Amino acid sequence: MEKKGISRRDFIKGAAAGAVGVATIGVLGACSSTSTTDIKFDKESDVVIVGGGGAGVAAALQAANDGAAVLILEKAGVAGGTTNYSGGVMQAAGTDIQKSYTTFKDDTPEKHFQLWSKAGEGTVDDELVKDLAYGAPDHIKWLTDIGLKFTSVYGHCHIPYVDQSLFADRIHVYEGGGAGGGGTILVTAMLDAATKKGAVIEYETEVTKLLTNAAGEVIGVTAKQGGKDVNIKAKKGVILAAAGIDQNKEMAKELSPQQYWDLTSQMCLCAVTDTGDGIRMAMEIGAAVGGFGGTIDFCGKTGAATDNRVPLFPSFIVNKAGRRFVCEDATYAYHYRAIFQQSKQLDGPTYMIFGQSSIADGKAPWTTESVAKDITDKVVIKADTIEELAKLISVDPENLAATLATWNSETSSKKDDQFGRITGLVPISGPFYAYKNVSFNLGAIGGVKINVDAQALKPNGEAIPRLYASGMNAAGWIGPYYPGSGTAIIGLIHWGRKAGQNAAKLKSV
Ligand SMILES: Cc1cc2nc3c(=O)[nH]c(=O)nc-3n(C[C@H](O)[C@H](O)[C@H](O)COP(=O)(O)OP(=O)(O)OC[C@H]3O[C@@H](n4cnc5c(N)ncnc54)[C@H](O)[C@@H]3O)c2cc1C
Repeated sequence: MEKKGISRRDFIKGAAAGAVGVATIGVLGACSSTSTTDIKFDKESDVVIVGGGGAGVAAALQAANDGAAVLILEKAGVAGGTTNYSGGVMQAAGTDIQKSYTTFKDDTPEKHFQLWSKAGEGTVDDELVKDLAYGAPDHIKWLTDIGLKFTSVYGHCHIPYVDQSLFADRIHVYEGGGAGGGGTILVTAMLDAATKKGAVIEYETEVTKLLTNAAGEVIGVTAKQGGKDVNIKAKKGVILAAAGIDQNKEMAKELSPQQYWDLTSQMCLCAVTDTGDGIRMAMEIGAAVGGFGGTIDFCGKTGAATDNRVPLFPSFIVNKAGRRFVCEDATYAYHYRAIFQQSKQLDGPTYMIFGQSSIADGKAPWTTESVAKDITDKVVIKADTIEELAKLISVDPENLAATLATWNSETSSKKDDQFGRITGLVPISGPFYAYKNVSFNLGAIGGVKINVDAQALKPNGEAIPRLYASGMNAAGWIGPYYPGSGTAIIGLIHWGRKAGQNAAKLKSV
């Protein structure tokens, strides 16, 4: 699969061209001068969707429901992208389902918005976040109408600086969802409903370029299909739904140090076809991009802090100096951002430290048997004393012993004055274990800037006519770290539906 990088210089060139309204510009040597009359189209549809993953099929269903002819172009041989691998869980506040499965009877989209906004650390577009929070309950109903049956609702783990009153159990789980792979049910339900309404999907079709007319409107795409370049006209609009820069090392190096770290030394679980193509193509015609830097990272070994029903077992995380640095039971991507930063700042790995006492109560992610196997496999390191363990993992023994002493003294009175941890506050005794943290990456944050109509924007805030972006291809609605499970899926449905609805409304060119 071809991967294309983009340099900061090219980006600035692209952004500047967008600001002065140049119809098409060339970056990466893909310069094209196009007008409607120049282009010979091989086929056409009202709405052309780039990517048949979660956002793409949501957009397709909405546009088809609204009466548009829809063509989805999918690079892979199957629909679904990373959404297939997901658990398909999604957040919404104030739904009847939330009321019936949880104690949160008075939750509101406003509280949901406030939480996401605060977690955005001032870097999100509050208008987008509010629109998403207020739109979310209707998406649950929309999916129920196409056959999904929601069977439980839970919450995500806390964030130390976000007021606890803003949290609620909002993560909706449908039958068959909740674990990796459950996302296929969501994709299949939306795609089947869309194709019943006449939407068409073409596989092994890689969109490579957006086509614009002299007025700067996006009027189609070029795609590689069966070894040939084909031009496809979009009479109403083009929707970008090709995800983030997840598997693109070059773009990650330029735009997202944490994604780059994940791709070069950790583990990325995203679809291999998600190489930031939608972002690159939009940049080539002068779209504004932003929101890069954050990732959806978590501990794939322990699943730490992914679910508020599961307290973190007695354990703490230390850096190369042997010191704690983060609230370990804060939502996963929050504490993984800190793990990334410490690994870089101190140029060495971080470790999860626990003891025989941590395993003994039966709620740890390890049993006596599984920890023994991990020791044999060198995934976990064991020592009788904390000083010995420190030596084995090349961490300062005095610091690590002091960290353990502070942990044991504070937790004996059930508190964590240093980092505000709330679960697993139990003293730890030996023998001691260390697990080297490995980041499991579920996607990169950042993409094409959009407005509340899901229109792609130029750097001056004007919309690029007839171009929409959705799902993880779009930016501004998630902040510098992933706030908790279910944000991406509800977001891709929201921005997919918005894009589909607004593109379907346009008059044909
Ligand atoms: C294991 C795992 C579990 C997860 N669980 C959850 C969860 O339960 N809840 C949650 O909210 N989030 C979850 N996430 C994150 C979430 O799944 C993703 O962020 C989300 O699915 C991305 O959706 P998308 O529509 O933006 O992209 P995708 O679903 O990846 O779709 C993008 C599509 O575009 C196609 N494409 C790319 N380039 C081109 C091109 N040039 N031309 C044509 N097609 C192209 C790709 O092949 C792909 O099919 C999980 C992620 C993983 C990996």
